[in-house]
This record gives sequence, structure tokens and C-alpha cells, in this order.
Amino acid sequence: MAATVTGASGQAGTTGPADTVEQAGATGRNGATTRTVTELADGRELIYYDRGTPPAGRTVADRRPLDAVEPSSEVRLDPMTGAWVTVAAHRQARTYHPPADECPLCPSREGRLSEIPAADYQVAVFENRFPSLAGEPGTHPVPPALDDPLHSRGPGVGRCEVVCFTADHDASFADLDEDRTRLVLDAWTDRTAELSARPGVQQVYCFENRGTEIGVTLAHPHGQVYALPFVPPRTAKMIDRAARHRAATGRNLFDDLVAAERAAAGAENSRTVLAGEHWTAFVPFAARWPYEVHLFPNRRVPDFTGLTEAERAEFPRIYLDLLRRFDGLFGGGDGSGRGSGDGSGSAGDGGGRVRAPYIAAWHQAPAGHEDELALHLELFTVRRTADKLKYLAGTESGMEAFMNDVAPEYAARRLRDLGPTGATAPAGDTATAAATAPTGPTHGEPQR
Ligand SMILES: [Zn+2]
Repeated sequence: MAATVTGASGQAGTTGPADTVEQAGATGRNGATTRTVTELADGRELIYYDRGTPPAGRTVADRRPLDAVEPSSEVRLDPMTGAWVTVAAHRQARTYHPPADECPLCPSREGRLSEIPAADYQVAVFENRFPSLAGEPGTHPVPPALDDPLHSRGPGVGRCEVVCFTADHDASFADLDEDRTRLVLDAWTDRTAELSARPGVQQVYCFENRGTEIGVTLAHPHGQVYALPFVPPRTAKMIDRAARHRAATGRNLFDDLVAAERAAAGAENSRTVLAGEHWTAFVPFAARWPYEVHLFPNRRVPDFTGLTEAERAEFPRIYLDLLRRFDGLFGGGDGSGRGSGDGSGSAGDGGGRVRAPYIAAWHQAPAGHEDELALHLELFTVRRTADKLKYLAGTESGMEAFMNDVAPEYAARRLRDLGPTGATAPAGDTATAAATAPTGPTHGEPQR
């Protein structure tokens, strides 16, 4: 898919209200993915992704009174750690405040205009109105990079986008069907291809925060894409570790990691959760979080654009399976796939069930590191039990030294036992592993 959409990069959003419909190469059950590029009232880009031919109304105008927002953040280098910090202190006054009870990610209706002018959508991506990163080198209001050993800084160029997974306000990603999940994958792939080609962008980071415990204020199912002008600290460490592994063994670190977890999949203390034909999910050996799963394509690729059609085709089943197991960890897998409807996206339903708050962080190779870095997901929850959260405190926040009181091998066993619907966990009890075996065969089940 990436190859077909890359040609459109740079045209979108630069020529006033656009009306482009492009056939992306990907095909699936419901035909090729198409994208329609248009513009919001303040000039921000909005892209609709549809399976098959998009319905009429994709280019309906945004009728809100919005002034354009000028980007003005800067990035500063911590001279002690080498970590970049984005400083976005100059947020402009908002000129448009949607009432708190009106979701800005739901489709627009007469009398209630949102960020999505269309009356309905499948997947929609738009530029964040108040981004912490925006613009390009050369035209950004913050001066160009200053290279000083103690005070290195530069303009906060890049882009922050919002990805709406569905028009259904009350759904969660885990509630989506495989076809929609494939469409989200196609959107992530398209954003990766387009944003990584932009000047000043070092890495494209796709992620989803789910749950009030993570700080999510909008319950509507959505994720974000950041086009970063620097290599973030966690990626920088991986680059270093991969180089050391290569020097010591002559092999790729991620290849060895995935191979080792797959080889141990049937063993007593296996950390493998799902072993598909093209994807493998496992709890990492030194997991930082109570429940943390890493998902890799079995064949190493630097980013979403490197995936083959076969790998894309298997992804929706694996990813939904994983998210549903997460939802079942604390008794939240009630089979309805629905949250409490209280807007939190993760709270209980009154019966002691708690959907797992999570962060789904997609790691992709930054520019220049495509040879060694591997596309993978790091999915984790800050919840330890149905009534306990893990807070980052003295050791974690102060020293970046994690203390995990859930053994990774135990976490893996619980996730395996939950089954693909996540519905078998005993509500409110995480002290014992779920005893009920999943019903029905799935390819994703680990070999046991
Ligand atoms: Zn909504």
C-alpha cells in the first residue's frame, strides 16, 4: 500500500480545500483502501480512509469559525542524558470551544459541528489543532537549531495527528472487526510513508492511549501519530543495544529475540502469548509493566511500509485477539465488548469488571536505522489488579529503574489462559491464573 500512496505525499493539504480520492494498493475483503484528502476550516489536513469506494459527502466543508494556529514549540537537548524534551509553552488561546458534552471526534450533525465534517466515516485522520510539534524546518517561527554543548535546541517541527478508528463513540479498538482493523493498519502505513518523507522528521510514532488511568480525556476510540524531529530516548537505547549485539554476535538483536521466544513457545515457563504464521506476541524477559506484551512480525521489517500482503492479512486477527485478552485481564471481557458507557473507556460495568487501561506504542525505525531496528508493538497496562494501579514513583520516575511485582512468565500464562475473547477470567481476582481454557481452535494459540 505504501508505494501507491507515497506519490501523493506533499500535495495533500498544500493547495487549499482538496478533493483527492486515491486508490491505495491494498486489497482485502471489502476491496482496496481509498483515501480522501480534504481540509478543515483553519487549514489543517483531514484524511478519510475507506474500504472500497468512499460514500458521498467525504469533502463536505468544515463550517466552524476557526482561526489558523501558528506552531511555536521548541525541542531542547538534556545535556546530561542526551534526551530531547519538547517545550510547547506557547499555546494560543482557543477561539472555538466545543461544549464538554459534545465529542469532537464524532461525525458532525446539524447544530453540532465536530472535527469531522462528514455525517459518518470509517477511519479519519486529522492534524491536531494544538500540536506540540508542527511545521517544517525553514518556515518555523522558532530559530533553526542551535548547537551548543549545554544548550542545544531547535524548532519543534514535525506533526501531531489524531486517528479516529470508528465513528462509534462507545466502541473500543477491541470491538472493531477485522476489516476495520485492516483499514487502521492501512492508515498507519500511509501516515508512516507520508510523514517520514517530510523534511525534519526522524521517526513516525503511532500510538493509542486507552483509559482515564492513562490520562485520556476523550472517550471516543482514537489514537495518535507523531512525526518526531528527533530520535526519542527509548529508541536511542535500542539503537545502541542493537549495535552492541551485532558487534558481539554478528546477528540482529530483534531477530534473535523473536526466534528465542518462538523456540521456547511450548516450554513450561514460556513467555509467548500468541504465535501466528506471521506475527509473534510475547511478554518480554525484563517486562517493566505488570502486563506488557511485545508484538513483532516474524520477518523483520523497519516499519509498517515493509509489511507484505500476507503479513497485513493476518494482523487484524492477531491484534484484536491480543487487545481482547488485555480487556479480559481484570474481568472486563464480558463478551459484549462494551465499556461502561460512562465516558472513561475503561471503567467497570458495575459488576466488578474493569477494562484494562493501556498504551499501545508502535516502534518504527528512525531515519538511517532501517537496517537494524524492527517494527514492533509494545503494549502495556498500568493496572496491576482490578483495584490497583501501578504508579510511577521514586524508582521509576526518579531513576528510570522499574520495579515489577508481576513475574513476566506468570503474566504470559494468564494472557494465554484468557483465550481469544478475553472472557474467561474470574472477575476481580487476578491473584490466580484463569483456569478455563479457551474454546475453539485459533491459529494464534501458543503451542503447548
Ligand atoms: Zn465521539
